[in-house]
Amino acid sequence: MARMRLRFNPWPHPAIELTDAPNPKCPDCDGEGEWTEDFADADGEYGGSEYWHCMCWDPGRARRLLPIPRWIAHRLFGWTPPIYSTEPPF
Ligand SMILES: [Zn+2]
Repeated sequence: MARMRLRFNPWPHPAIELTDAPNPKCPDCDGEGEWTEDFADADGEYGGSEYWHCMCWDPGRARRLLPIPRWIAHRLFGWTPPIYSTEPPF
């Protein structure tokens, strides 16, 4: 069952989107939606962390609802425009 929530997404343009949320009662992730597992390299030292998404939600499931003007995104969400353009031609 989808648990929808509103979220601010700054890319590619500031907007409010409706997105899925992790199950707060999920026994696998305790409502976090993901967890990390550390792994060792061949010498037994810390080799990094691997992120695992829980099956209780789909982080890519989102629908953009409302574009937000830049000054509102800056004032409400602390968003700052990129120094360089992210749109072609670069
Ligand atoms: Zn979960």
